[in-house]
Amino acid sequence: MPSKPVKKKKCRICKAEFTPFQSTAVVCSVKCAISLAESKRTKEFRRETKLLKEKIKTKAAWAKEAQAAFNRFIRLRDYAEPCISCGRYHQGQYHAGHYKSVGATPELRFDEANCHKQCAPCNNHLSGNIANYRPRLVDKVGQAEVDRIEGFQKLNRYTIDDLKEIKATYNKKARELEKQNE
Ligand SMILES: [Zn+2]
Ligand SMILES: [Zn+2]
Repeated sequence: MPSKPVKKKKCRICKAEFTPFQSTAVVCSVKCAISLAESKRTKEFRRETKLLKEKIKTKAAWAKEAQAAFNRFIRLRDYAEPCISCGRYHQGQYHAGHYKSVGATPELRFDEANCHKQCAPCNNHLSGNIANYRPRLVDKVGQAEVDRIEGFQKLNRYTIDDLKEIKATYNKKARELEKQNE
């Protein structure tokens, strides 16, 4: 029985025309087959790396969003108050300044007693102006709260669900304060 004329194909790697020895062949030669396998492995590796990065990025992104919501709430809560560190009421930008920094004490990053309205100069240029922050913090939240903040913190790892919940909670609290301030 005469065999059907084999349709020529274009090699997926070198783009040369070739006559496949089997219908599923996509490359012209052993050399191109090796290249194809390598590029598949590379693609798979890139895909896995991307997925892993997205997983990490997602949690970091949620933490960032939850922190932004919390910080916005702090600025609104302390709307009528001066800078916690220098006590000045002045024009310009205000931040939510952590007494125990997020980097040093992540367990207190969403602790309302640990974060207060702070002017940009104190927050950015004086590393939080902590020496002057402390006495005003004692006046505002009380010695017992400052002792708690300065004391041992239980390790607390936030899950993505925790962060989603924190974000939603503080967005809601911030909206309520905005309504009150209107
Ligand atoms: Zn080829
Ligand atoms: Zn200040």
